[in-house]
Formats: sequence, structure tokens, C-alpha cells
Amino acid sequence: MATITSHGAAGVVTGSCHLLEIEGGARILIDCGMFQGPEQNQNDGPFAFDPGEIDYLLVTHAHLDHVGRIPKLLKEGFTGIICATEATRDLAEIILLDSAKIMREDYETTYKKAQRRGKEEDVQLPLYDEDDLEAAFDLVWKYPEYDNPLKLREGLTVTYRNAGHILGSAFIEISYLERGVEQTIVFSGDIGNDNDMVMPDLSKCLQANTLYVESTYGDRNHKSVEETISEFKRIIIETLNDWGNVLIPSFAVERTQEILCLLKEMHDRKELPQCEIFLDSPMATRATEVYNNYSELLSQKCQDYKERDGTVFDFEGLTFTPEAEASKAINDVDRRAIIIAGSGMCTGGRILHHFKHRLWNRKNAVIFVGYQVVGTLGRQMVDGARWVKIYREEILVRASIHTVNGFSAHADQSAIVEWASQIKDLNRIFLIHGEEDKQVILRSVLENVLEQKVHIVKPGEVIYL
Ligand code: ZN
Repeated sequence: MATITSHGAAGVVTGSCHLLEIEGGARILIDCGMFQGPEQNQNDGPFAFDPGEIDYLLVTHAHLDHVGRIPKLLKEGFTGIICATEATRDLAEIILLDSAKIMREDYETTYKKAQRRGKEEDVQLPLYDEDDLEAAFDLVWKYPEYDNPLKLREGLTVTYRNAGHILGSAFIEISYLERGVEQTIVFSGDIGNDNDMVMPDLSKCLQANTLYVESTYGDRNHKSVEETISEFKRIIIETLNDWGNVLIPSFAVERTQEILCLLKEMHDRKELPQCEIFLDSPMATRATEVYNNYSELLSQKCQDYKERDGTVFDFEGLTFTPEAEASKAINDVDRRAIIIAGSGMCTGGRILHHFKHRLWNRKNAVIFVGYQVVGTLGRQMVDGARWVKIYREEILVRASIHTVNGFSAHADQSAIVEWASQIKDLNRIFLIHGEEDKQVILRSVLENVLEQKVHIVKPGEVIYL
């Protein structure tokens, strides 16, 4: 009998890692993500299974909470095959490298502090370093194409379908034999929101016996995309017309490309006042190149831009400033600049320099386009902090602070329910990747609509199929 055990993203939204063991002994791991935020201490200690016995690692997409423990998996003995779309592999390289850099810097700072107290031996080494990453990319990778079944071994086939969440993202249908009868289980990974400017709509899943579905926003429906876009445009236009500058802290993957696409559309429609736009993030610049390279996987709008301009995101007035010198030169532009920079929650990165130079000016505006976790500088500003500390300096916040909610890469409650209700032969549904209070709400809606039991998976719980 096949079993599934969730070693992450059970009752929480990070650390995705699910072990499927099927008849005949194949062991398949679906995602191997990092725990983040309050759960991050769960990254410590060995895996609760033997990584050396895993035959396949199926990766749904490149977000850190789905790929961040892959180097650790290798360090603990994994030598199997990794399956991911090619775009996911390219993005994972960027995301994992960035995370290795942040962990190394954190380690160095903590080490120095501990050294002063003679306690350096207590400082934990980073989860992995750049060398460990190289080893991960030297393993055997297989690159399934969307909607093209890939046979891994006799009686075991996987089909990746576009999840519309970020570039390369997939939900995975795994077909295997159970006492000679074919069974299909689907892992949703993270599924996307319809009407996204950059990603195509989530593909349909037509048939499966078992579903493991994410429930990040299972308790609510998003604000309409139209409302979000018009609010974003209004703030940009008003600020620029008043000779101010707009600062946008943005996540390097997906949100940045969405913002670029939106600004390009404004430029095309002549809605954008005369201005200079800077993408001031080396990581976001690399991610944007990868998106551009795989434009055939993006929305029709992005494909049209590529066809027309030879590039999806670039347009007149946009400057990429990955080099430090070019980045510093942005300080010389004193009016009508739009600056997009990381990090998305303002916990580091170049956005801090721009804040230091521009937060004091009441003509300027800051637009938050993503969720700000409690404890981050971004959250302090969203919550109305009058003074913020940047590089040990207290800065007075006089710029206007805006939060434009509604850009979301995740399906909301009605999208999850609609997607799940199209699946034929479904007799078991399991909720993962969500906070428990939200899962309870989604469970009751799904049980009502689909008229069947839905189970919320607990960490380490063994499910017998
Ligand atoms: Zn994701």
C-alpha cells in the first residue's frame, strides 16, 4: 500500500517536503523546501527519513520554501534523480545562490558578535554554502515539459502541468500501479491566480484519485486585480505629476516582472508621465532575464511583447542597474524616478539606500506590493512608523506609504475550490501548505461543495492510500 508522509508544509506554509512510497519500493520526494520565519529552526537536525534511499525528487517550483533544503538533502546522502522544468532549474539557481549569500553574511555577523563574548563555538554553520549548491546542480536532472508524461520507471509516470504561479511552476500528476491498477495522485505545489499579467492561467487537472492541495489563502478571496492595478497606477501618476519619486520594494522573482509588465503597459498606453524607471537589483535583473528566455511559458500579453519588441520586459525609459556604480548614480536623479529594488520586505538590499536618500521627502511615495511579515522594516512602515532605523541612523518617514494588496501569486479560496471541483474520480483530498485556522475554513467549503471528506495533514503523519 502506498503511503505519504509530510515532512514540512503541514499546518504551516513553509518547508514543503512530502515523501511518497509506492508498491515496489520507489521512494519519491515532492519538494524539499526551507522552513522560513517562525518555523526556521525546523531546518536544523537530520531529515526524519534516509535521503540516501530517495530515488526521485520532484520539484514543483523554484521558491525557497520548495527548494531550499535540496543542498542539505545531498549533504545527508541523496544521490537520486531531480525532476523539474528547465525554467525552475534556472530560477532555483538564482534563488538558492541568493539564500546562500544571505546565510553566509548572517553567519559572519553572528560569529563576530559571538567572538567578542568568547562564544563563537555556539554559532551554527549556515545550512549550506555555494559549494554545496554546485554539487546539487551536478546531479542528474530530468526536465519534463508541460503536459508531456515522463516515464520514470515501469509503472511510474509523472506529468507536469502549468500551475500559473511563477515561471516554470507545476502541479504534478504521479501515476503508479497499486496491485496492478493505475492510481493517480496530484501534488498542487503552489497554484496561481487567474488574470495574472505575467503568468498564464492555471492548467486544468482532469483526473486523479488523490489530491494534495495548497491552502495558503484558503480562507479568503483576493481583491479584484482591476482594483489593484488602478490603485497602483493612480499612486504612480499622482506622485510623478507632483514631481516626486516612487520607491517599490519588490521580490526579485515574479512580483518584479509583474510590476515591469504593468509599467510597460502604462508606457504603451501613454498613461505614464515623463519619468525614469530603474530596476536596481542584480538578483531581479537575472530573474527577469530568465523570464525573458522562457517567454513561451508566459501569458499571451508577454508573448506579444516579445514578438513585437524582441524583449518581454524592456521598454524606453527603463534602466537595469546591476552594477554598483550605476546604482549609486540613481541618487543624482532628484525627481520623477520610479525605483524598484529588493528586498521585498526591506530586510536588506539596495532599497535601504534609496529609503535613506528619499524617505524624508513628503513628495515621494513608497508602494508595498507584497505581504510584509511582522518584525521586518517593511511591516514597521506599513504599520505607520514615523521614524525608522536604517544603517544605525534614525530616518524620519515623510514620504507617503501605500500598500497595494491584491497582487498575489496564489489562488484564492474560490479558485482552489473551482480547480479541485473539475477533477474526476477524486476520492481523497488532503490540505497542506497553509496555516491551520485557514485550512479549517477551506476544509468546510470544500466538503460542502465536493460533498466528501477533506483531511488536514499533520507534520509527520503517515497517510495510507
Ligand atoms: Zn511558491
